[in-house]
Amino acid sequence: GQCLAVCPTGAISEVSNISQVYKALMDETKTVVVQTAPAVRVALGEEFYMEEGTIVTGKMVASLKQMGFDYVFDTNFAADLTIMEEATEFVERFKTKKNLPILTSCCPSWVKFIEHKFNNLLDIPSTCKSPHEMFGSITKSYFAKKMNLDPKDIVVVSIMPCVAKKYEANRKELSSTGYADVDYVVTTRELATMIKDMNIDFKNIEDAEFDDPLGESTGAAVIFGASGGVLEATLRTAYNMITGEDLKNVEFHDLEGIKGIKEAVVNIQGTDVKVAAANGLGNARKLLEMASEDRSRFDVIEIMACPGGCVGGGGQPFLRGRSDKLIKRMNAIREEDRNKPLRKSYENESIKKLYKEFLGEPGSSKAHELLHTSYIERIDK
Ligand code: SF4
Repeated sequence: GQCLAVCPTGAISEVSNISQVYKALMDETKTVVVQTAPAVRVALGEEFYMEEGTIVTGKMVASLKQMGFDYVFDTNFAADLTIMEEATEFVERFKTKKNLPILTSCCPSWVKFIEHKFNNLLDIPSTCKSPHEMFGSITKSYFAKKMNLDPKDIVVVSIMPCVAKKYEANRKELSSTGYADVDYVVTTRELATMIKDMNIDFKNIEDAEFDDPLGESTGAAVIFGASGGVLEATLRTAYNMITGEDLKNVEFHDLEGIKGIKEAVVNIQGTDVKVAAANGLGNARKLLEMASEDRSRFDVIEIMACPGGCVGGGGQPFLRGRSDKLIKRMNAIREEDRNKPLRKSYENESIKKLYKEFLGEPGSSKAHELLHTSYIERIDK
């Protein structure tokens, strides 16, 4: 996969979890919860000869239900949660001018790259876990409590566009409840294999909806799947946290695109916030070198290791160099954002409820215990 080409150490290899997932599905003592990342729904159809960029959310959810998963949830819910935490962290750092620029931390290849190559900068990545890891710890705490389940009997499966997420799920520190936040990671291509194994008529299956309460999401979460999206979503919420108002121009076209490094300046109450987004670890290195030399050059940096962000991830149907396919997937992500009635994470009612009932405020000690992590210096072999 493409992730192997960009993986800084080569330590990330594709190990299939399919048989473990089947085993969990057959085990009656387990509650098996599945979550799907935003980029999966705009690419899975390609494995079934559907037009690139077809949004197959309903068919994907229906197939997972037919396979026997007990709950089918949306990683986008956790992406909204990530934004609440990350925007809070950014606003704090921005006000005190400490530990800037903040680096987005939802791409495990990028995090691993910093840990190996830029360990002088380990104070600046956001401490937020990536969305699927946050989802796992919330499932094994909040959801477990709500449903009266023992977290040891819950199996969390993540359907991801990404090979590096498999390595991430095994990081020891990502187990806030005493159990791994995420048990198994299945890629988009592997999910297609499972659907075919089970003889599910994907093209004709009737659409189904995500389950509640971890299924609701906003447009801000959808755009996590494309390069520049996490940054844009964070800015929408940070702007509101600082000004109490909604950011009028929600779409920062300056940040979109496939190649190179994109910069933008967003004025928040008279102060310029300088942001940059890039994909590919070559561009990441350039941005980090600039940030090392001059910490005030940027305030927020987003990096995705794969071309175009997660839509071009190593676990997705192969692109075979077809950038037109990648663009169709990116456009589908943008379309899904525009079609969502709510486009800012702080408008998500289920997220508000989660804070009210369980976490308290964004950035609370409970939120830190469950949703944040730390980074360690790693030595190249
Ligand atoms: Fe995984 Fe997305 Fe990072 Fe690629 S860009 S390694 S798909 S998280």
